[in-house]
Amino acid sequence: MSIKDHLLRFRESIEPKATLVAVSKTKPISDLQEAYDAGQRHFGENKIQEMTEKWETLPKDIHWHMIGHTQRNKVKYMAPYVHLIHSVDSPRLLKEINKQAEKNERVIDCLLQIHIAEEETKFGFDQNELLELLSSDAFAGYKNVRITGLMGMATFTDNKEQVRKEFKSLKTLLDHINDNHLISDSHDLKTLSMGMTGDYEIALEEGSTMVRIGSAIFGSRNYNV
Ligand SMILES: *Cc1c(COP(=O)(O)O)cnc(C)c1O
Repeated sequence: MSIKDHLLRFRESIEPKATLVAVSKTKPISDLQEAYDAGQRHFGENKIQEMTEKWETLPKDIHWHMIGHTQRNKVKYMAPYVHLIHSVDSPRLLKEINKQAEKNERVIDCLLQIHIAEEETKFGFDQNELLELLSSDAFAGYKNVRITGLMGMATFTDNKEQVRKEFKSLKTLLDHINDNHLISDSHDLKTLSMGMTGDYEIALEEGSTMVRIGSAIFGSRNYNV
C-alpha cells in the first residue's frame, strides 16, 4: 500500500474524533509531499533542524508540530512558524518559547508533556510539578504562549491495561485542571495528544483528540542512514 492509502485508511478511523498528526521524522521530502498531495496538512517532527529544512521546502499551509524533546538554544529556529509544540517538558523551556514567540510577535500554542509512563525514560512533568508551574508568578507573566492541552506517552508494553491506565490518568489530569480552574482563561486546555502507531486505538477510547502516527503511515524508520 502507498503512503496515500495508509493515510486515507487512518483518517477514516481517526477523524473527526481526533486530529491526525503524520509523524514524518527521518523521512524524505518526497514522502511528505505524497502525504500532502493526499490532503494531509499536520506533520510532526522531533528535530528542529530537520523540521526547519522541510518547512523551507514544502508548501506553506502545512501545520508543523514539534513532538520531540527540545533544546532551548534551538527554539529560535522554529519560533517563526511552528504550529504546536507538544513536548514542553520544563519551566525553563516554556520561558524560552515565550521569549522567542515575543520576538516574533506571535503567540505559540503549546502542550505540556506529562510523565504518565511507568518507565523512567520518558520526559515530562509529574503532576505536582505541573500544578506548581500553573500557579507560579512566572507562568502568569508569559503572554506569548498559550497552553492548549497536555501530551503524554504511555509505557512501551504489550500490557493494554497498563497503557489504558496511563492514558486515563492524562485525561483525568486535564479534567481536574479545567474543573478546578487551575489555569487562567488566556489558555485553553482542550487538546489531549496521546496515541501512536502501537496504542492509538486505546488512546482514542480514553479521550485522545490528537494522535501522532508515524510508522503505520510512512513505514518503519531507518536510523542508520
Ligand atoms: C516517533 C514518535 C511518534 C510516532 O511513532 P510511531 O510509533 O511511528 O507511530 C509519536 N510521538 C512521538 C513523541 C514520537 O517521537
